[in-house]
Formats: sequence, structure tokens, C-alpha cells
Amino acid sequence: MARSVEVVFLGTSGGVPTHARGLPSVLVRDWNGLNILLDAGEGVQLALARMGVAVTRIDVIAITHAHGDHINGLPGLLQSMYMYERSKSLIVFGPRSVMRFLRDLLEVERYDFSFEIVGVQVEGRGGYPLWERGGDRVTLSWAPACHSVESYAYRIEWSLRPRLDPEAVKAILGSNLRLVGEVLERGMARLPDGRVVRLSDIARDEARGASIVYTGDTSYPCASVAELARGARLLIHDSTFAEDLAEEARERGHSTGVQAAMAAREAGVSLLVLTHVSARYEGYEARRIEREASRVFPNVILAWDGLKLLLTL
Ligand SMILES: [Zn+2]
Ligand SMILES: [Zn+2]
Repeated sequence: MARSVEVVFLGTSGGVPTHARGLPSVLVRDWNGLNILLDAGEGVQLALARMGVAVTRIDVIAITHAHGDHINGLPGLLQSMYMYERSKSLIVFGPRSVMRFLRDLLEVERYDFSFEIVGVQVEGRGGYPLWERGGDRVTLSWAPACHSVESYAYRIEWSLRPRLDPEAVKAILGSNLRLVGEVLERGMARLPDGRVVRLSDIARDEARGASIVYTGDTSYPCASVAELARGARLLIHDSTFAEDLAEEARERGHSTGVQAAMAAREAGVSLLVLTHVSARYEGYEARRIEREASRVFPNVILAWDGLKLLLTL
């Protein structure tokens, strides 16, 4: 099976929606069918419907902070999951304020949910395993962003161990599964005759990975975001303003496209996507943010609603 991760931009505006851009939300889905929603701005359900994604498929929702443009889609999502009689459990990540929002919502609406909602409160820096099988794993980690309220940037990381070469396994280890397990776990094992077998001896490719970092709302520079973003394949960064409003960006806890580009360059990422575009930039005007950023970091795309990216592992 082709191992790939699809990133779908559901909403790319910031603060208020416009006729062209909805409020912040990004869907990340991998080849195993793991569906992660980053932020849930108002209108996220319609955006999902337009992309042909059923709300019941979402496994994880990670909310950066409790500002309305990032969270007001959550009540509608849960209501629809209830209507569709979802059965699998849902994990919601977010800071304390988001957990309070969720708790109050559940108390006020008083649905008798047919599924479990697991709230995970994020604090400081941390990580949580989302999926693990045979040495392959997907992890969600977070670090504080630099915004006007408590807010977190998220990193989703896929780490895949090398795939084994069945011929080499048979030739070197025979049918000793304990030794195969030891090589997979520790990277090496010692045979009864004293020879050392390394993972590379029985693998047909290399370990692979990919990572996506989503800043949510943040100003620049932000040391903890820079650290979280280091070496990511894809960085999705707050780019609320063009460069002439750098001062306003700093005051309001946001970034300009140029600042996002500097963050991308310093973190050594492969691709930068600019999002959370202020409603003041109508239509083609927003391209200015991308133009300015591309002078600092050429591998940059200004997101639009419906943009899909495919990362292969
Ligand atoms: Zn925002
Ligand atoms: Zn905000």
C-alpha cells in the first residue's frame, strides 16, 4: 500500500470568514485511515461535506486555543456525530480553556452520546501516541505558541521502521522469531555463534518518517514553536498580515508571511504553507503575503480553502 499523508485545508481565514475563506481548520489523514482535525472553526462541517469527508470518520481533534475562530465549529461537529450515532471514541486535545469549553458544552447540551469523548489537556511540552503497530507509530506532540491567550502548536510525526526483506530474514535468522523481534526492537541481535545481526542486514529499505507542524495563532519569533518545527516536512504557519503590518502582528500575537518564512528557514523545513489570512486581504490581494514570503523562503504556498497536499513516506 502506498504510504502517504493527505493534508486538506478546510478553512484558511483568521478572525472572521469571508466569501472565499472559512475559519481555521486543517484535516490530516493518513494511508491507515487515521483522521486528525487541527482546529475546528465555524463552518468546518460544511467544508468537510464539500470535500466528501464524513464527520464520523474523524478520530482526533486538536484545538490550538479557545478563540472563537478556532473552536466554534466543535459544538456542531459533536452534534452531527451524535445524529449519525457514531460509536468509536473521539480524542480531543486542547489547553485548559478548551477542556472547560468542552465540559460546559457537554453539560448544557446533555446528549446521551453513543460514543466516548476523551479530553486530553495539553500543558507545557508533551506528546501522545496516536497509533502504534509493529514498530511503526504516529505521535502528536505540542509546545506553547506565542499568542494573546494560552495557545499550542502541534506536531504530527509518522515514524516507520524499515520494511524487512523476507529472503534476508530467512537466510540470516532462519525461523527464529525471537531474534527477529530483538533486531526490530534494539536494532541488532547476537546469534548463538556470536555473529551480530543488524537491522540493515535484514531490511529492504530505510527507516522513514514525515512530520507536519501546525502553529495555530502565533507571533514571531517564538522559541518553543521554532523548536517544535525543527526539520519538519511541512510547516503550516500563521500568516495573518502582509509585512507593512508587522507591528500590528506583534501586538496581536500573529505573524506576517515574511515572519512565517523566517521561521521556516530557521527550522529547516521542506515546505511552508501560509494560512490564517486576515479578511482585509480580498481575493488576489492575499497573494502579496505569499510574494513577500517567497523572497525569504522560496518553497512556500499561500493556502486556499480546498487546497490538498500529499506527502509520501
Ligand atoms: Zn485565530
Ligand atoms: Zn487567536
